[in-house]
Amino acid sequence: HGTLMKGKKGLVMGVANDRSIAWGIASAVAAQGGELAFTYQGEALGKRVQPLAESVGSSLVLPCDVTDDAAIDAAFAAIEKEWGELDFVVHAIGWADKQFLRGRYLDTPREAFLKALDISCYSFTAVAQRASKLMKNGGSLLTLSYLGAERVMPHYNVMGIAKAALEASVRYMATDLGRDGIRVNAISAGPIKTLAANGIGDFRYILKWNQYNSPLERNVALEEVGGAGLYMVSDLSSGVTGEVHHVDCGYHVVGMKNPTAPDI
Ligand code: NAD
Repeated sequence: HGTLMKGKKGLVMGVANDRSIAWGIASAVAAQGGELAFTYQGEALGKRVQPLAESVGSSLVLPCDVTDDAAIDAAFAAIEKEWGELDFVVHAIGWADKQFLRGRYLDTPREAFLKALDISCYSFTAVAQRASKLMKNGGSLLTLSYLGAERVMPHYNVMGIAKAALEASVRYMATDLGRDGIRVNAISAGPIKTLAANGIGDFRYILKWNQYNSPLERNVALEEVGGAGLYMVSDLSSGVTGEVHHVDCGYHVVGMKNPTAPDI
């Protein structure tokens, strides 16, 4: 066990199970002595998050559906009551109706668009509003994005638009909060088999494609995103804000299919 995060208190939002990116980051932070609180969406997931939180010594486990302002207020009120302050937040939350994570983006109806953008983009802003008030000694806000924000990925559709907006919000909030010593960053992760990823059409093909065509010729591991998350919420990244950091085995630099890759 290291001590990089000793004395730091942070909230992790978006653990659904032990394959969640939020959990990968939480484990890495806990292993460095960070103190953690967790929020979960709905009682069913709460039952899964509780034992995971306990395994890293956390007893602050709170419900929070991010579509509900009152629920976000209640979660931050509970954190303020318990801790009085906050050093970092990991926001690893995204959602779109999977009916629209296939076919053409063009066919996305208004309701599906608004809900995807609300949960996957606005919620980070709503969280930053509350969290920044508790970051009296500066802090770090971290969210998760995907290359589909920058390039067209088959099936990613409305999530690509939501992630593009999320990445822009990282830059605007980094500027808003910089004078308070609060940093705002995103990690753009390569594909990882999680619950959320199951909703994306042909996800197995996407995993294979990235494995064969990324410079490291493999997929990124949850622990590697965890390590990058640890860096972003720790003082090691104290000079970094407004950044979208790719943790994808280098796939984002590649312009064409690897000529030596096998057919999928
Ligand atoms: P996951 O299913 O483990 O986590 C997604 C989380 O979002 C769940 O815990 C879910 O409860 C939460 N969530 C959804 N709607 C919510 C709501 N209304 N209120 C509160 N929480 C809500 O999957 P994951 O892959 O770990 O996803 C975490 C983040 O990482 C997402 O933003 C996702 O887009 C992003 N991401 C994932 C990948 C990948 O390949 N898995 C790649 C890049 C980025």
